[in-house]
Amino acid sequence: MFTNAIDQKKPSDIRLVVRIEGGLVQAVYANCPAVIRVAIMDYDIQGGDPDEMLELDDGTRFLGHIEETFESPCFVPEVFAAFDETVPVMDGQQQHYLAHKGMVCPVCGESDTEAGRHFDADGLNASVTVRCNPCASTWTDHYQLVGFDNLVGAVTNK
Ligand SMILES: [Zn+2]
Repeated sequence: MFTNAIDQKKPSDIRLVVRIEGGLVQAVYANCPAVIRVAIMDYDIQGGDPDEMLELDDGTRFLGHIEETFESPCFVPEVFAAFDETVPVMDGQQQHYLAHKGMVCPVCGESDTEAGRHFDADGLNASVTVRCNPCASTWTDHYQLVGFDNLVGAVTNK
């Protein structure tokens, strides 16, 4: 795949899902293996737990606590799909995929996957669509031309 120069205007590949119940943040899910610490600021301080009452330097009071993200490579894409958004694949997922030689589904982890017969080749690069039979996820594998061997030359003498 290609690496893009960092574009400040482009959102990063990290996606978070914040789960709220009864007006309280219950959990933060991420699509990346890195643990992200998230400070929760609740300005509704009425009737809040005094242990969670915090204050900024300027005197702003809020109820606060720290949540750490849970890596959830299946749940996060499910939630974003409800917004019709696809979730970018993260590096950890790529490494796992390559370590298993592309024989495991990135979504469900099963090895019953099937590559399409049609290779889309473009000089140095080729790609093929892969489908996971158990969970019906699909993705595109990318290949790169690395060289050649077994050269048998047909010498032409004139
Ligand atoms: Zn699968």
